Amino acid sequence: MEITTTLAANPTDDARLAEILSNPGFGTNFSDHMFTVEWTPADGWHKARITPYGPITLDPAAAVLHYAQETFEGMKAYRHDDGSIWSFRPEENAKRMVRSSHRLALPVLEPDDFVQAVTELVKVDQRWVPGNPEGGEKSLYVRPFMFASEKFLGVRPAEHVTFMVITSPAGAYFKGGVKPVTLWLTEEYTRAGRGGMGAAKTGGNYASSLVAQQEAYANGCDQVVFLDAQEGRYVEELGGMNMYFVFDDGSIVTPETGTILEGITRSSIIELAGKMGHHVTERKFGIDEWRDGVSSGRITEVFACGTAAVVTPVGSLKWDGGETPAPASTDLTMRIRQALVDVQLGRADDTFGWMH
Ligand code: PMP
Repeated sequence: MEITTTLAANPTDDARLAEILSNPGFGTNFSDHMFTVEWTPADGWHKARITPYGPITLDPAAAVLHYAQETFEGMKAYRHDDGSIWSFRPEENAKRMVRSSHRLALPVLEPDDFVQAVTELVKVDQRWVPGNPEGGEKSLYVRPFMFASEKFLGVRPAEHVTFMVITSPAGAYFKGGVKPVTLWLTEEYTRAGRGGMGAAKTGGNYASSLVAQQEAYANGCDQVVFLDAQEGRYVEELGGMNMYFVFDDGSIVTPETGTILEGITRSSIIELAGKMGHHVTERKFGIDEWRDGVSSGRITEVFACGTAAVVTPVGSLKWDGGETPAPASTDLTMRIRQALVDVQLGRADDTFGWMH
């Protein structure tokens, strides 16, 4: 893909950038440039460009604003101690966007073009990738997204589609050390049904999760656990993370795919834990198995995983009328977390060839 680049006339000055990178938070500051490419049936993907970051114009009839035909991705760029900049398995995000786009009847952006767009944008804005000279886990969050930009109110796949990439410096997910999250089990709301969009990374799934997240906050919990829509018996995932359960014999279970978002952290942990000598199974996992397993001590650890927090131990699980205690340990959880973070931040050998 041929990309034209127009550099910002007034990029963020060094002092302001240093201030942002010293305490980036999440998702509020954006780098100086953005990537855009457009698609029509006649021309395919065309006009690939990196331009100064800024608002875009969209017709009020743009289909995405009405029918939510859109997909997105989330990934990070990391600065290693030698100054070099790396991303974690970007081709997996690219392939997931292709799968999401199929589900949303959006055009395919070839994985090579996706990775090129991300790589070129991060290169142009490389001074926005924070380092971690004193340890820490800062990174540049990368948000690719594709949406129906056609001006048309008919309900059919759009014939003008836009793909963009923006980036935003991100601080460590846990300030002051990793601590277990408490989870709220929603028995009223579900996230995905058979044949639905659960496996796609599309805005509607997140819109539908917000009311359940509000319920979690109202009940003093950090995040929501969703159960399957059909039987209401099986654990699916959190609003933005996949789940893992560790048993007292060292075996590990993670809910099977189909209606969950297939996390890249999740699939990396299947490989990593396998190499660490643990037997990992993907299968249906009942909510009662969770409750009983923690109470009896059969389940020793529960953790969640995703790009944002990497791996987070799970503490207690609450629902309307009850609560399980926190599992006994976080030992394996923290070892898996450390192993992944060390590869991402270049503090351990990348034996799997995951870094780009
Ligand atoms: N489930 C959902 C619903 C998510 O939004 C995410 C974050 N992308 C994940 C799981 C974890 O996926 P990943 O490891 O690729 O970040």
